[in-house]
Amino acid sequence: MPIAVFETISELREFTTDARAAGKRIALVPTMGALHDGHAALVRRAFEVADVVVVSIFVNPLQFGPTEDLDKYPRTLPADITTLDSLGAAAFTPNASEMYPSGASETRVTAGAVGELYEGHSRNGHFDGVLTVVSKLLNIARPDVVLFGQKDAQQVFLVKQMTVDLDLSVAVEVVPTVREHDGLALSSRNRFLAPRERAAAQKLSRALGAAGSSADRGLDAALSAVRNVLGSEPMVELDYLEVVDPRTFLPVARTFSGRALVLLAARVGTTRLIDNAVIHIGALS
Ligand code: AMP
Repeated sequence: MPIAVFETISELREFTTDARAAGKRIALVPTMGALHDGHAALVRRAFEVADVVVVSIFVNPLQFGPTEDLDKYPRTLPADITTLDSLGAAAFTPNASEMYPSGASETRVTAGAVGELYEGHSRNGHFDGVLTVVSKLLNIARPDVVLFGQKDAQQVFLVKQMTVDLDLSVAVEVVPTVREHDGLALSSRNRFLAPRERAAAQKLSRALGAAGSSADRGLDAALSAVRNVLGSEPMVELDYLEVVDPRTFLPVARTFSGRALVLLAARVGTTRLIDNAVIHIGALS
């Protein structure tokens, strides 16, 4: 049986309202399409915690800056529908005027101080755009659970914070980053990497691995390890590198010890990639 594909808010609302009335648990997986195995992992996890899974595919203009790749973002809707068909998930594929009938909503959800850091510093207004569209999707589908990938760690932190701050009654489920065999985190943007760039891009996850194995010698050692690996690859241009406390998402002090998160973003050619990993920083002697 072909899966359900909904293009309008009212169609999706009717579908989820009926499912809820039938006693089904509903999961929502927000995506921008160009689906890959990372997205599939979210859908598979969603079926472990819910009966009905809705995957939204919407390239949200609100989260792209004026000089960013909104127009170039990959759009592969027919292939995405085939993927969702095989996974058994329903698709919500609104166009921009369905989501923003008057151009862009005047009302925004603002992400606050952490939303201005790292990814939000490089991409001004990005997280306000993300939280606004996620709020809309949650209000439209009213899922029991919403799933996000750890690949976008700052997004996960801010969405969780939003559900607490705004008393949203939805559970947030986080799925580990799915990687290629050489460690490169799957991303819809990886398809833009030329072969030489693709080879260079594996240095991002290598650098995170090096941070992990140096972290017992303290924060500075972990940071140097990242810079050494990335510095050996001229095609990688680092945008930011930060080590944060996962509980606050604020940078850790030089003397910090314990579980921390290394965040990095880099350009490989014209393609911007992000990645992150948990490390355990040892106490400085
Ligand atoms: P996107 O379509 O890139 O906006 O991503 C949609 C969702 O898939 C987000 O929650 C991402 O964090 C998640 N995601 C993207 N890439 C991966 C990956 N390699 N592993 C796990 N989740 C991912």
